[in-house]
Amino acid sequence: MTITQPDLSVFDTLESEVRSYCRSWPAVFDRAHGSRMYDEDGHEYLDFFAGAGALNYGHNNPVLKRALIDYLARDGITHGLDMSTTAKRRFLETFQRLVLRPRDLPYKVMFPGPTGTNAVESALKLARKVKSREAIVSFTNAFHGMSLGSLAVTGNAFKRAGAGIPLVHGTPMPFDNYFEGTVPDFLWFQQLLEDQGSGLNKPAAVIVETVQGEGGINVAKPEWLRALSELCKRHDMLLIVDDIQMGCGRTGAFFSFEESGIIPDIVTVSKSISGYGLPMSLCLFRPELDVWEPGEHNGTFRGNNPAFVTATAALEAFWADPQMTQQTAVRGEQVEQSLLAICDEHPSSGAHYRGRGLVWGLEFQDRGRAGQVARRAFDLGLLIETSGADSEVLKLLPALTITPEELDEGLSTLSRAIREVEE
Ligand code: PLP
Repeated sequence: MTITQPDLSVFDTLESEVRSYCRSWPAVFDRAHGSRMYDEDGHEYLDFFAGAGALNYGHNNPVLKRALIDYLARDGITHGLDMSTTAKRRFLETFQRLVLRPRDLPYKVMFPGPTGTNAVESALKLARKVKSREAIVSFTNAFHGMSLGSLAVTGNAFKRAGAGIPLVHGTPMPFDNYFEGTVPDFLWFQQLLEDQGSGLNKPAAVIVETVQGEGGINVAKPEWLRALSELCKRHDMLLIVDDIQMGCGRTGAFFSFEESGIIPDIVTVSKSISGYGLPMSLCLFRPELDVWEPGEHNGTFRGNNPAFVTATAALEAFWADPQMTQQTAVRGEQVEQSLLAICDEHPSSGAHYRGRGLVWGLEFQDRGRAGQVARRAFDLGLLIETSGADSEVLKLLPALTITPEELDEGLSTLSRAIREVEE
């Protein structure tokens, strides 16, 4: 595809230097449908990024759009603080019926604010309040958001430095496979917990992603998660699963921890919960942890009612039967086969892949390669991002609703981009 130079002048001159994705993809996007995006010059792009996981059901999903248009047309409440509304009631009842009850999850639901980091902040605050302790354990390469509490449990040095103040009360431990199998799981963590001379303050909680999305698509084994859950129980620490990126079906099941059989004490959910890309987040916790005083955690935008409407429609459309989970597994196998073929075709690149469901990472020996491939893929009409501490991993995150044909098309483009970068 030949891309004409778009007019980016107002973005370049007026918008802050902090902008990022628009630098990877220098186009002015205008419309989107399903897994396709279109720029204002009419170029078409296949989306392998899905709004960083906020668009698991694709762009402008027609079922969700209909529900939203009907709601807006009848002057349904748009902004509701945390008032009781019909839209919120329907969401809560549907979430309980289609998500919590079938999984025997006893959670209470908190609306902590519009974005993922709001959910993480509330989870950390609640854990500290329940346990009357300050320390939180997180993991190497974790990403939990950009506000100060979330940054304190995030690994990336560049992002942490942006805080401008010391980030305290967080202690990182090695994530699964950090030492590539050479050290038994939790050796260091357990020793620190048990040794009164270790200097580790007793943690209130441990926060973990089952698959680290921003940290390089690092997949925790189910047995590693089970051992972590046991360790938390033995040492009276709450287990927080941050399912903001890997929840809502990204790895197959609705919650990414279901495969392991663990039941976290607290779960954070955001990104695709509204299904339509509208801001919404949840903090779920065991009822006995609900020690909040009324208004102790607050926020103007906790009642995004249009998001409740699309969230309800998404649950009804995709989670009323197990078909979604099976479809994600099938599409995931399609991706895995392609990545296997790519690695076989380019043995000298030292590429290897990893993933679960519909989240996959492709890492090259040359740490700059992923960025070069992503740039070439953009020229060829494919939107794909990188992840990892040095952006060394290509991250495949298509919508769960992508068709097998679109997936094939994107994987062929990716393969071509890799070939052309190597030449
Ligand atoms: N937690 C995880 C696991 C994430 O992937 C993200 C965002 O990528 C966040 C938290 C922060 O969410 P938000 O960007 O909506 O604040």
